[in-house]
Amino acid sequence: MESNRLYLGIDYGGTAVKMGIVSEEGLIMGAESIPAPSLPDEAACRAFAAQVGEFVASTGAYRSEIGGIALAVPGVVGEDGSVFSPNVTVDWPELRRQLGRLFSQDVVATLNDANAAALGELWHGGSGNAASALLVTIGTGVGAGIIADGHVLQGRNGAAGEFGHMTVVRGGRPCRCGRKGCVEQYASARGIVQSFREADERGVGNPVTYTAIEPKHDTDTVSVFKACRAGDARAQYALDVFNDRLGFALAQVACVVDPDVILLGGGVAQGADLFLDDLRASYREKCLSSCADTEIRTARLSNQAGVYGAARYAMFATQGLADEFDAFGINLH
Ligand SMILES: [Zn+2]
Repeated sequence: MESNRLYLGIDYGGTAVKMGIVSEEGLIMGAESIPAPSLPDEAACRAFAAQVGEFVASTGAYRSEIGGIALAVPGVVGEDGSVFSPNVTVDWPELRRQLGRLFSQDVVATLNDANAAALGELWHGGSGNAASALLVTIGTGVGAGIIADGHVLQGRNGAAGEFGHMTVVRGGRPCRCGRKGCVEQYASARGIVQSFREADERGVGNPVTYTAIEPKHDTDTVSVFKACRAGDARAQYALDVFNDRLGFALAQVACVVDPDVILLGGGVAQGADLFLDDLRASYREKCLSSCADTEIRTARLSNQAGVYGAARYAMFATQGLADEFDAFGINLH
């Protein structure tokens, strides 16, 4: 087998697409993040694939050196490779076709983005020797990768990591899944901004502390974090809601999985200095006493975990590492 092969991991998120070239040894040779485009048809997918080609060229890698490609997607991946991703408009089969053609690959592997992040963290990040880890990815939505006794849990319908749709408030905020009061409605970037705006409408906290800082769009947590640092009561309220609901959900999952470590990834984790202590307190207050010492911290690979994990998955898929592959309990598409 040819040595020093490179793998292309593409992490297609709700707001950004991150891509990276990773060596077999796990060194990232180049990475880029671009705003997530809509890819509804062949022309759009072809243009996007060309953009990926330009990125690869910009890293100095040749297309012929790419040994495999995998796409991490913000949705549920079926056993047949079908993707249900209500947050983004992408013709996934067409995108796979265009990428495969450009890079002369028979297979463009596909996996759920939270599972990709969990794989990435296991390969290179913060899971250490943990046999069981819960990786919660908090971005536009909320996803989770669950590693239980060394296996990534997928479940029969690929829904085992749908932590974001656990109900935490009965009859709460309506969710895009058709139910109400899901974790995602309170603990995602969108949920945080919504809480901030609700605080404003309801006049929560001391209005004297209200700053001129306002979220610029529905997922602008950067502004919410900035307002929080400036002492804005609306931002603190949004984080209080976040900590309460997320702490509750983590406490419930801990009863079932009892992980060694709970890792927080995704864009929102970048504000962890503002909320992590309170989140830990919220978790400890609500969990079973035997799970009270479970470590909760940010994922080490930060927002690169999905890219690493996708590249790792591409490696499994193309090298036919059946044993390792099985060990992760992931289906090949
Ligand atoms: Zn939901």
